[in-house]
Amino acid sequence: MTSLPAEAFEELLNDFEDLLLSGVRRPRAVPQAPPSPPLPGEFPAAETLAALAEAIEGCRLCPLGSGRTRAVPGEGVSRPLVLAVGEGPGQEEDLSGRPFVGPAGQYLDKWLSSVGLSRKTNCYIANTVKCRPPGNRDPVPEETQACLPYLNRQLDLLKPRFILALGRVSGQLLSGENVSLSRLRGRLLSYRGFPLLVTYHPSGVLRNPDEYRPLVWEDLKRLRDLLRSAPEAGKTGEGGE
Ligand code: SF4
Repeated sequence: MTSLPAEAFEELLNDFEDLLLSGVRRPRAVPQAPPSPPLPGEFPAAETLAALAEAIEGCRLCPLGSGRTRAVPGEGVSRPLVLAVGEGPGQEEDLSGRPFVGPAGQYLDKWLSSVGLSRKTNCYIANTVKCRPPGNRDPVPEETQACLPYLNRQLDLLKPRFILALGRVSGQLLSGENVSLSRLRGRLLSYRGFPLLVTYHPSGVLRNPDEYRPLVWEDLKRLRDLLRSAPEAGKTGEGGE
């Protein structure tokens, strides 16, 4: 005699119980498999910034997801002139869920405002990784690569006129060039067809203002001039993905 599989046996028992109790066989809900989590590197198909932020807040694609207090998707207007991309959230950002809110963030706001930009009116601010690396270390390539589809999706949704990469990690990631920051800045690069400029990270400039502040000011003036002269869709420069 062949034995029934466990599911079929359970169904038979359920039907028998229905017939005994009420004389009719009740339809039963078909159990649904839980949605599978996205695979590392899988494109998050969020249609809006809010949906993308929700996906990021639930993400555990890399080890940074288990150490964070809050994920930090980004902040700003939905059709920005400039997308500024930092490295990763620090302690205050991790606690608040907002990018660049500590001293470096206030400094960045000053930089932007000096050339007529602001996250409240015409900029969006994000990071290469959306969760805080422990001890404020730089994110490692495995982490930036795992998180990159989120930044790419932000780029597709935001369609900024320019990207401003802040610091070496962001500059190298977006330019695709593994060279020093001093060799990345001062050039018009591109990433996925969007014009890209690279400058120093505000926290680095706060540590050494005499050396870096004049260079950042040059970069900001270049960005301002390019914004004034660039057509709506922007124009692509050298290098990048
Ligand atoms: S850093 Fe990015 S990839 Fe890693 S868990 Fe956070 S959102 Fe996900």
